[in-house]
Amino acid sequence: MRSEDFWVESFVVGPLAMRCSVVTDLSTGDTVIIDGGAETERIISWINDFAGQGPNMSNGPVNSDQLLEYGVSRNVIALVNTHAHFDHSGEVPLLLEEYNVSWYLHDDDTYLQSQVQNSARRYGIELPKPAIADKQLYDGMELKIGSLLFQVFHTPGHSLGSCCLLIEIDDGPNHLISGDVIFAGSIGRTDLPNSGGDFGLLAKSIFTRLWPLEDDTIVHPGHGPMTTIGLEKSNNPFVGVHSQAFADFH
Ligand SMILES: [Zn+2]
Ligand SMILES: [Zn+2]
Repeated sequence: MRSEDFWVESFVVGPLAMRCSVVTDLSTGDTVIIDGGAETERIISWINDFAGQGPNMSNGPVNSDQLLEYGVSRNVIALVNTHAHFDHSGEVPLLLEEYNVSWYLHDDDTYLQSQVQNSARRYGIELPKPAIADKQLYDGMELKIGSLLFQVFHTPGHSLGSCCLLIEIDDGPNHLISGDVIFAGSIGRTDLPNSGGDFGLLAKSIFTRLWPLEDDTIVHPGHGPMTTIGLEKSNNPFVGVHSQAFADFH
């Protein structure tokens, strides 16, 4: 995809400040929503009408006149999840009601997904009956959705089914939607219930699947600020190349 066609918006939503990423190809209007965990009314009004609060970050049109200049309208054609913690997937049923499209999840998170209402109740949050994914992500998958293409990396360790999604840009840095696998200066928790968290497994996922990516790859984590693969590889205290875990692995 050319950089001028790549439109990404971050909506930081819910009490856990989770990043929902909305990715659009500006040459076709094809749109995919990644991690519809909360505040779906806000996301839907913006996508449909540019109404309301809008995203926390956008590199593209911010009103319908600007979008019109591209000669396309925006069509949500699929939902994808990096993993099934409730803050990421709890309101997927509301998005499915609005858009009636397929929802992709790795099947190793199917049990976790079935538990979202219980998990959310621990935080005092009531959620609708959990959605069931009708399409599965798998490692090495070239996920083609309309004119959008995502490389899927299965990166377990924070949850069994955690995946990272890479969007390759022909004339600029690639983008990685990393869910809760890696954050700026941190990594995903490995102590959450029903998740299969395992630090050794998480570190291995990062060393084998993320560190080989190009240094300038822009990382959109599930929580906190954006970062790059190069920055985390050199500085991340848990899994960077100067960490004990990295030394132990090699
Ligand atoms: Zn998580
Ligand atoms: Zn999260």
